[in-house]
Amino acid sequence: MKALFQLCEHFFSLFFPRLCLACQQQAPPSEHFICIRCQFFLPKTNFHLEPENSFTEKFWGRVKLQAGAALYHFTKGGRTQALIHQLKYKGKTKLGYKLGELYGRHLLQSPVFSTVDLIVPVPLHPKKKRLRGFNQSELIVHGLSDTMQKPWTSDILIRKEMTATQTQKNRMDRFENVRQAFHLVDQAAIRGKHILLVDDVLTTGATLEACALVLQEANDVKISMVTIAMASS
Ligand SMILES: [Zn+2]
Repeated sequence: MKALFQLCEHFFSLFFPRLCLACQQQAPPSEHFICIRCQFFLPKTNFHLEPENSFTEKFWGRVKLQAGAALYHFTKGGRTQALIHQLKYKGKTKLGYKLGELYGRHLLQSPVFSTVDLIVPVPLHPKKKRLRGFNQSELIVHGLSDTMQKPWTSDILIRKEMTATQTQKNRMDRFENVRQAFHLVDQAAIRGKHILLVDDVLTTGATLEACALVLQEANDVKISMVTIAMASS
């Protein structure tokens, strides 16, 4: 039965090939979302191998990080932007899991990331999550958690209120806007732990900073952060 299904799927793909989610041109290998060419040309940062990098620099004087890294550089109109767009706005939820899985394999090469105790996604406001149907950061976390064999939770850090649209604001405005939005539900649950905070894209870092400061309300918490993409400003 499975063989028959695979045969039908193969036959169907001859007429309607699945296209790569980064370039929309080539067909990716089966079970993949990204073609071989894009897998090669997507701009990897390799920040997980550099303790000090331009991700961690963004948080200097703001949050003390154990480690920080992004999988890809993000440029306007580039392959990474196309991927993130497919994930967030085109409902390609399996892509989120796959990217998490891929990044998990990279992060395990790093001694610091290997000491993470718990993975926490940056929460979306519940209203926004209902509208979109999912939290893209949580999808990434599922993939990371399975590959890294670390537990995750979306219950201890929650988002309280809708923040006004952030795109037109500068860093200070955005920070003022988001820092009241998060709430730590259970301090005892994370005390003494190394938390890996996960978001899809790093731009100003205001959201990740606000989350980290809230998590640090618990004693003796260590914070690391990862995102799939980082704007190279
Ligand atoms: Zn491609």
